[in-house]
Amino acid sequence: MSYNAWFQCINGCPGEYSLLEVIYRCPTCGDLLEVQHEMDALRTRSAAAWMQLFDDRYRRNVYPYGSGVWGKKEWVAPFIDNENIVSMYEGTSNLLWADRYGKQLHVEDLWVKQCGNSHTGSFKDLGMTVLVSVVRQMMADGVPIDAVACASTGDTSAALGAYCAAAGIPSVVLLPKNKISIAQLVQPLANGALVLALDTDFDGCMAVVQEITKEKRIYLANSMNSLRIEGQKTASIEIVQQFDWEVPDWIVIPGGNLGNVHAVGQGFSMMQELGLIQRLPRICLAQAERANPLYRAFQDGFKHFEAITAQPTLATAIQIGNPVSVKRAIRTLERFNGVVEQASEQELADEAARADRTGMFNCPHTGVALAALRKLVDRKVIRSNERVVVMSTANGLKFADQKAAYHMGKIDGVKPTHRNMPVELPPDAKKVAKAIARHVDKTRLLVS
Ligand SMILES: *Cc1c(COP(=O)(O)O)cnc(C)c1O
Ligand SMILES: [Zn+2]
Repeated sequence: MSYNAWFQCINGCPGEYSLLEVIYRCPTCGDLLEVQHEMDALRTRSAAAWMQLFDDRYRRNVYPYGSGVWGKKEWVAPFIDNENIVSMYEGTSNLLWADRYGKQLHVEDLWVKQCGNSHTGSFKDLGMTVLVSVVRQMMADGVPIDAVACASTGDTSAALGAYCAAAGIPSVVLLPKNKISIAQLVQPLANGALVLALDTDFDGCMAVVQEITKEKRIYLANSMNSLRIEGQKTASIEIVQQFDWEVPDWIVIPGGNLGNVHAVGQGFSMMQELGLIQRLPRICLAQAERANPLYRAFQDGFKHFEAITAQPTLATAIQIGNPVSVKRAIRTLERFNGVVEQASEQELADEAARADRTGMFNCPHTGVALAALRKLVDRKVIRSNERVVVMSTANGLKFADQKAAYHMGKIDGVKPTHRNMPVELPPDAKKVAKAIARHVDKTRLLVS
């Protein structure tokens, strides 16, 4: 069976474009394009057969099908020759049962999808493996492409750097100067990308990269390029698969440029259309209070949306005031009976630290999602018997500097409610024993 997919306008303008064409916007209305799959072809295989196929491939070692993305190749990018796929075994991330933390929050059935347990430490790998594979396919087909470029708040550039390096393709990343963590800066550097630190914010980098990629030999890797969405949507398919094909009640997800919430929605919609699931979860999109244009729009039922200038936030990956995917994100939230919640700097830092105390190691964006979850539980929008999945978008180790600053009380305007500091002692067994006894008492108090 040959499956087909193409680009079409998100507003339904006529026209279909090859996924191997260098095109990001609808020539008629200028809005974004989205990937459409030939659903009738996909329907020739039954829902049960798809589930069986996906389960058979999951985490096995037949390249590239063990990857969380390429195990679903027919639903993602069926036209790519396997020899052009650039996979680093992305996805297949842990779906963590947050038992103790859930009890503290009064959510009995709480799970955290650890998307940061992936090759470069964030969910951006899921989309980037697809995009870079398509680029390699285009190059193999003789399309003249010199380099792949993106604007980034850190994680996109890490993923682009790694996948391009694996394929031997030149990559260019535009980062807001001094606004990303040292770990995120060093990732594309180590992978040999051209790293351009621009004296602006993410929205400023985004404007420049759109300008330079008007030259078709520089291929655009931001999520306005919908190839990324196709990979990212496998996260929701994988969640359902990890629950033995049961749908959770809620997905809580932090959002900035708002491509990922749309991607997650696309995964569920496709599963429903092909009969793998019968109902949809509700979605909560969580924003930092300092970068909350969608939260503001939600307050009047999405009647108006206004871009803002995002203020500095610890949640650097979502410090975005003019999200590229806002239109399709709003459509997704309307379809999934969604809500938008926000978190202050204090709330996101404390919530990440509180969850860390139950064994996690959360990035600040996951902190935003967890803080939003707490608010929705307090307001009884989310009920205690519902199954909730929080999307943890990046690995906390990327933010070690920021987490250390929290515990040392060095973040301006944030009180380290859950601080834990090293205890400095002389090499004296008695003193060490005393410190242990104090620690045991304190932990008992916390647990009881
Ligand atoms: C990119 C990113 C987000 C936001 O995803 P969008 O698609 O831009 O909404 C959230 N968290 C992390 C860690 C990210 O890297
Ligand atoms: Zn159009």
